[in-house]
Amino acid sequence: MKTLWGIDLGGTKIEGVVMNADTNEVLLRKRIPTEAAKGYEHIISQIARLVDMIKEETKLSPVAVGFSTPGALDPSTQTMKNCNTTCMNGQRMKEDIERAIGVPIEIANDANCFALAEATMGIVKDVVPDAKVVFGIILGTGVGGGVVINGQVLNGRHGIGGEWGHNVLEDDGYECYCGKRGCNETVFSGPSLQRYYEKISGKALTMKEIYQAYRDGNDPHATATLKYLTKSFGKAISYITNVIDPDAIVIGGGVGNIDEIYTEGPEELKNYIFNSRVVETPFLKPKLGDSAGVFGAAELVRGY
Ligand SMILES: [Zn+2]
Repeated sequence: MKTLWGIDLGGTKIEGVVMNADTNEVLLRKRIPTEAAKGYEHIISQIARLVDMIKEETKLSPVAVGFSTPGALDPSTQTMKNCNTTCMNGQRMKEDIERAIGVPIEIANDANCFALAEATMGIVKDVVPDAKVVFGIILGTGVGGGVVINGQVLNGRHGIGGEWGHNVLEDDGYECYCGKRGCNETVFSGPSLQRYYEKISGKALTMKEIYQAYRDGNDPHATATLKYLTKSFGKAISYITNVIDPDAIVIGGGVGNIDEIYTEGPEELKNYIFNSRVVETPFLKPKLGDSAGVFGAAELVRGY
């Protein structure tokens, strides 16, 4: 039996999966703590420990392992960057993991793995089975994106393919941790929307409370915040649509649960793209939940 092995490497947990490559049936899932505070070398040894545990339980061995990571591997330097688990940045992680587990690995960031999983095993597969180009978005505390073309992640020359969260949307916007101003993430991530609401209303509410206030219908500031979200989101998506015109857009993360993104988002998008007809691009809610990272990681090594 041919199997796919994937590992979702997060800041708090490392989760592994082994799937039947023909049926995508999950044969085993297992997670252990990352213990990132103990440092980079410890993380590598935890990964090796998890792979050994899975080998022992399944009596199987991988030919390759796919990894979903919080950051990206720079193809030129072969080092990690943009990881929020900062001890990984600057490390030759691909090489170090390959040495530790003895097989080749593939690495993609979590948004790319999300997009890949939903494109090949998730909602896009169900709703738009002939989709060739898929754009996946994680819209939560941060904003991430991933481009999948014919079942393959588009990593790009610098390893930043799909990093739409850091497209600049507002020239005079807020500073972003990436060093620029007005990135998508500073406009419509959950914390950025809360900041917007607080600025116009003088009240600090959570995103959940803001959305409830909007639904209740008697808070004009909540209504303005929702409008700001859908309008900004539609505009930001137009830059993607005018370049790669995806067959489907799948939106995960906490903010991605807001229904108006799926109803008003396409309406706003229509105002900004080079197309006078109705917007046909389906905006989809994901299907795989927390499993997308680890399934996408496994999908990375299907070609081995
Ligand atoms: Zn940024």
